[in-house]
Amino acid sequence: MHASRYVSPLLCCVLLAPAMRVHAQAPPLPPAAVAAAEAIRASALSGTEAYELVRSLTVEVGPRLAGSQGDRAAVAWALTQLQDRSFANVRAQSVEVPHWERGVATVRIVEPYPQPLAAVALGGSVGTDDTGIEGAVVEVADLDELAALPPGAVRGRIVYFSKRMGRARDGAAYAATVPARTRGASEAARRGATAVLLRSVGTSASRVGHTGTTRYEPDVPPIPAFALPHADADLLEQQLAGGANVVVELHSTARMLPAARSANVIGDVPGTGEGIVVLGAHLDSWDLGTGAIDDGAGVAIVIAAANLIAKQSPRPARTVRVVLFANEEFGLSGAKAYAESLGDELAAHALGIEADFGAGRIWRMNAAVAEPALPAIDAIHAALAPLGVERGEAAARGGADLGPLRALGMPVIDLWHDGTAYFDHHHTADDTLDKIGPRDLDQPVAAYAVAAYLAASATVDFGRLPPPATP
Ligand SMILES: [Zn+2]
Repeated sequence: MHASRYVSPLLCCVLLAPAMRVHAQAPPLPPAAVAAAEAIRASALSGTEAYELVRSLTVEVGPRLAGSQGDRAAVAWALTQLQDRSFANVRAQSVEVPHWERGVATVRIVEPYPQPLAAVALGGSVGTDDTGIEGAVVEVADLDELAALPPGAVRGRIVYFSKRMGRARDGAAYAATVPARTRGASEAARRGATAVLLRSVGTSASRVGHTGTTRYEPDVPPIPAFALPHADADLLEQQLAGGANVVVELHSTARMLPAARSANVIGDVPGTGEGIVVLGAHLDSWDLGTGAIDDGAGVAIVIAAANLIAKQSPRPARTVRVVLFANEEFGLSGAKAYAESLGDELAAHALGIEADFGAGRIWRMNAAVAEPALPAIDAIHAALAPLGVERGEAAARGGADLGPLRALGMPVIDLWHDGTAYFDHHHTADDTLDKIGPRDLDQPVAAYAVAAYLAASATVDFGRLPPPATP
């Protein structure tokens, strides 16, 4: 929509320059910056340090669940990485985070055909006592089917959510499936259920479960919640077929510990003038894998991209700030703390770009900026087009960590990674370094570096945005 509504002013000026000297407008981006962006793009495509960064993070730190020893090690790792490169004002912003411990989960079918089920506790789930929980299973597809059951249908029982997530390049099926994970436990407890099982929200073909946050409403008792790998969800459904009475026994030692300290790690590539362009990613990960794609890849991409910008001449007017957020996975603690800490500096936040969708190629760009800035966005897109990036028609939403800043009016650019395979490993024990090829991150680094460099170099004001409509 944007692309068709706005004939590219850059193209117009180039084509019409000889005949229209009198009316020549300033181009939306400084020509020297456009040339420098081409050099950044070529440099990134010839090889970046991003793979080495994600290798180092996953091998030398590993899992980094909020509040854990690994989380603290990740903060130290990130400070060292930024200090060792061309960043100024490298700092850790202390953030309080919840500290949950997974413990050990066992799930068994005890009737009609006893056998164990592979399962993982959902993040934040309560555990069971030593005797565990035993109950008959009631299958529903999703929250709507649960709500449509007659009163008392799940009382004293275990609710199983069976809806399967599909694959898509833009990951759209995630939003359609994830509500049962985040809200299923409380909605089941509200109707008297004793526990929840969930077909994993993800597309793994391995016998691994996809964890992720479950949230408890304060007005109902918390009940344990577990995700089943697809193979085990299939097995459960086979036993439930024909309306058979299937009884399951659950044990879990998951528990919440006292809140802990973590930190956002921040470093600047200082500009020559005013304003800040944020490059965000999150430093924490789930505990089952080593957080290579979620979000080691994003951490590596934004550090490598900003470091390329630091080495490029001319230096942009705006500062490019890398923010490695604490605890995205389990409540956005770092994102909220960063936004709340800004005060007067909020107005300086000209635009943000977040990397939190894996290691796939960038194939689309969306932007949410004030209308007068759209020609500059078109020009940024022109510099991304040689990377195979198309112009999206929807307004950008920003990622989870930029959400609080976006809600306060900060414009955003979304760079869409190919997410076809992202949910094969997302939040599982399979989120490990072998899922990323040594050159996979070079094209994404090129895209983030070019977009951030040009946004920081643009003379236009990207404006402020109204609060996003709630979905
Ligand atoms: Zn993530």
